[in-house]
Amino acid sequence: MNVYDTSQMKNMLRAKGFVYTEGINEADLIILNTCHIREKASEKIYSELGKIKILKNQRKKNNLDTITVVAGCVAQAEGEEIFRRAPVVDIVVGPQSYQTLPAMLENIINDNQKQQINLEFEVDKKFDFLKEEEYPQGISAFLTIQEGCDKFCKFCCVPYTRGAEYSRPSHEVFRDAMKIAASGTKEITLLGQNVSAYEYTGPENTKVKLGELIRLVASLPQIERIRYTTSHPNDMQDDLIEAHREEKKLMPFLHLPVQSGSDKILKDMNRKHNSKQYLELIDKFRKARPDIAFSSDFIVGYPGETEQDFKDTLSLIKEVGYAQCYSFKYSMRPGTPAAEAKNQIPEEVKTARILEIQELINSEQQKFNNNFIGRTLSVLFDRNGRYEGQVIGKSEYMQSVHIDNGKHLINKIVQVKITKSLQNSLTGELV
Ligand code: SAH
Ligand code: SF4
Repeated sequence: MNVYDTSQMKNMLRAKGFVYTEGINEADLIILNTCHIREKASEKIYSELGKIKILKNQRKKNNLDTITVVAGCVAQAEGEEIFRRAPVVDIVVGPQSYQTLPAMLENIINDNQKQQINLEFEVDKKFDFLKEEEYPQGISAFLTIQEGCDKFCKFCCVPYTRGAEYSRPSHEVFRDAMKIAASGTKEITLLGQNVSAYEYTGPENTKVKLGELIRLVASLPQIERIRYTTSHPNDMQDDLIEAHREEKKLMPFLHLPVQSGSDKILKDMNRKHNSKQYLELIDKFRKARPDIAFSSDFIVGYPGETEQDFKDTLSLIKEVGYAQCYSFKYSMRPGTPAAEAKNQIPEEVKTARILEIQELINSEQQKFNNNFIGRTLSVLFDRNGRYEGQVIGKSEYMQSVHIDNGKHLINKIVQVKITKSLQNSLTGELV
């Protein structure tokens, strides 16, 4: 989501005459687009701001001004506190109001005004504002269709930083998808904090859900691959499962976070589903699309997690047989109910559990990848590799696939025979 928001900010500011630079030393405007999901992510911002302060002072000696912006969810969560902790910051803008950034910049540049802040939840305006913009996109593009969350899992800050669930009008999504397709993009990933909760109510109360939206996007001939992320197990409706059965452009890969394999922990987290329901859902998808691969997120060391709860998570991982997974130590987020819990897990227990879960996840991923040796996969190549001539792409199942002497294959979907499998990637040759 932040990658998408960043690209939107770049597009918006390009229209105002700014050009993007890779070199921070020559930047007149620095935007930190921030994430608040775990503590590490937000602490990083303050250490970055320390470096920016030094840079700003150096540039000042050469009579160069530097405007510093903190955008995103840390901005939303910390607000004015950012100015207090880091006076180097000129603008604080939340993730649902960055469309006001050009006006705020103007206030500073032209009117010499001091620090600016906007933390409004103006999610509909955020997209309306960009209506007439061109969207230069890459080989694979993100497209936000939904924002926010009403689910309030007890560990999570998203409902507070991104606000309530909002679905963009389907005709706007389709219009954006058309623009993206026209720019030569082959793959679109539909984005939302709760993408599977997508539901747009149009004229005469007609409802468009995610399955139908996927079919709409699939009707664009230039678009060859469609993905969506992130889903919540409670929102996975039959029309979406049907879309996986019928729509060949919809990739057979689903990120479906479960967080824990323990029913007690799932209940404490307020996830509103248990492990049996989750496994039944996985089964339903496999019946509709037998080759579908799954990934998930896991939190270890959630308040009250016993050794047995943790073992239940390991068992669930083995039972599903994931293609890949992300795992995190539970991180206390200020203002969320789980942060208030008395039965927090000691850091050393969290560390031991994260190491153990990651070992299992890695070996499951290696097992998954080993299945493909000798088989042929369809791969969309999107970037150059480390060695001359090497290119890297994504399989339908989200595996990274490397091939040598493939420069001419960038932005093409080709059949690759897999010769070698590593935990994180596959190597192959052209069929
Ligand atoms: N909407 C998605 C996830 C969004 S947040 C869902 O419901 O699954 C992305 C991931 O960050 C979560 O799946 C969770 O595993 C992790 N996460 C969120 N809050 C966290 C916290 N306080 N500590 C550790 N991990 C967290
Ligand atoms: Fe956070 Fe996802 Fe739960 Fe919403 S559903 S509160 S985004 S973890």
